[in-house]
Amino acid sequence: MKEFEVAYPIRQIPSEEELRKAAARAMGVSPAKVAESRVVRRSLDARGEILYRYRIAASTTDEPALEEYILPEYQYVENAEPVVVIGGGPAGMFASLRLLMEGRKPVILERGKDVHARKRDIGALSQNGALDPDSNFCFGEGGAGTFSDGKLFTRSNKRGDIREVLHQLVAFGADPSILVDAHPHIGSDRLPAIVENIRKCIVEHGGEYHFETRAVDFKLHDEGNLKRWDVICAGGETYSARSVILAAGHSSKEIYRLFDSKGWPLEAKGFALGVRAEHPQSLINNIRYHGKYQPWMPAAEYSLVTQAQGRGVFSFCMCPGGILVPSATAPGEVVLNGMSNSDRSSRWANAGIVCQVEPGDVPDYDRYGVFALLEFQSEVERRMYSFSSSIKAPAQRMLDFCRKATSAGLPPTSYHPGAVSAPLHELLPEFVYSRLREAFPAFNRTMKGFYTNDALLLACESRTSSPVRIPRNPETMSCIDLPGLYPCGEGAGYAGGIVSSAVDGILAAAAATA
Ligand SMILES: Cc1cc2nc3c(=O)[nH]c(=O)nc-3n(C[C@H](O)[C@H](O)[C@H](O)COP(=O)(O)OP(=O)(O)OC[C@H]3O[C@@H](n4cnc5c(N)ncnc54)[C@H](O)[C@@H]3O)c2cc1C
Repeated sequence: MKEFEVAYPIRQIPSEEELRKAAARAMGVSPAKVAESRVVRRSLDARGEILYRYRIAASTTDEPALEEYILPEYQYVENAEPVVVIGGGPAGMFASLRLLMEGRKPVILERGKDVHARKRDIGALSQNGALDPDSNFCFGEGGAGTFSDGKLFTRSNKRGDIREVLHQLVAFGADPSILVDAHPHIGSDRLPAIVENIRKCIVEHGGEYHFETRAVDFKLHDEGNLKRWDVICAGGETYSARSVILAAGHSSKEIYRLFDSKGWPLEAKGFALGVRAEHPQSLINNIRYHGKYQPWMPAAEYSLVTQAQGRGVFSFCMCPGGILVPSATAPGEVVLNGMSNSDRSSRWANAGIVCQVEPGDVPDYDRYGVFALLEFQSEVERRMYSFSSSIKAPAQRMLDFCRKATSAGLPPTSYHPGAVSAPLHELLPEFVYSRLREAFPAFNRTMKGFYTNDALLLACESRTSSPVRIPRNPETMSCIDLPGLYPCGEGAGYAGGIVSSAVDGILAAAAATA
């Protein structure tokens, strides 16, 4: 077996015959000796001529066949031992699928609604600011990943095998290109159907889904070797199991409060805070494709990072051809995030531009102990709401922001609730502002044209990751001194995106069934 790279102009999709000939050349054999040649990775290269670079795996007729990834089968589990899974986001869904593979019955408790009802709620939120604290851009079937860009960032297998995630996504309806693309994404128009297919599979195999079911308390019954957890829900129902997978996401603050009230361990953890920057997509295309953009090319992406005053400032969750959405989970907060459809065809490019915040950066909040950063995060989100008295986003043009000048007029924005001109240089914490101010001109050195008053900054981008971690035993993956309770995904502080949360959910399910 040999892996090698070939490059073709962006519009020239190589035929099987071309790949066979390329493999023959790379392996020094005749084309007839090539048994198989398969694309394993595809990445766009716009540095000079615009190309796709293909990584090809090939074998000769004398060698064993190339390895096929085979998904383990799901078992029928209606009468099998249950595992309660709190949260139906990527961590909870993929944990549940793994439970089916292991012959255990997932019982999923999800505070939000199914994906169809949820669509109506986020429509109402975007149109008239009506926030349902249980059904919004973070909460509901599929979790925070459902109405997102569906970027599948993680290509690294460091924390677990991502093939189990990607191959299942394809089996449930994602385009197979996600298996090879260097920067795969699915899109908000496709994700709801995929999430629904996952639910149907779980239910058809005997698992249970309970929507509008919010877990509010946990009780451990410890009878010697027999340990059992009761999960008590807001409506009074109780679900019992020997193992509970806790995959409630980074916005389920009540879960952290519950842990604290019980004296269960929690740790403060850094997160990143800043703004969403929105440029016209045409401007980003022009920069990234060096003026050679054609309408049939993919909307250009970017990824930027710099150091400012000894701290990382970086772009986060960039959405080419996307829109900005209100992703707060409680009334009185303004939080922004980005999503896009599969064709990424909107007029705008947006990304979080954020500065790392560490425990210890906000001594005024020390009195909140482990919740110092959580309180700080909430306070900034509430400050933005207080400024606009609504979920309209306080906003400023990029150069005005750096000059500390309130913008006289704002450019159009994709953020449906709207934006209001605001002195973000005053509203953001000074140590965040001063670093962002240094970063924007620095980014212009890598992306000439990025630093422009045609770009709008909207605040705030604050839910980059959880500011609290639930520590777990590295060997058993369960909470310290709480056997059978498995915190996982972004809310537990061990993941930061759709794929990494899904992988962490799989690991939790594997640990729960070991
Ligand atoms: C608008 C937006 C765009 C994003 N875009 C991307 C992207 O393109 N790529 C990417 O990798 N990541 C993206 N993210 C982040 C990504 O969605 C998260 O990292 C990921 O969903 C975390 O998965 P999770 O399962 O750990 O938690 P979540 O997805 O947050 O799921 C947790 C679930 O638990 C439920 N829940 C919470 N508390 C309880 C309770 N007490 N009882 C019962 N249920 C409860 C919630 O309703 C939720 O459904 C985006 C996020 C948002 C908001």
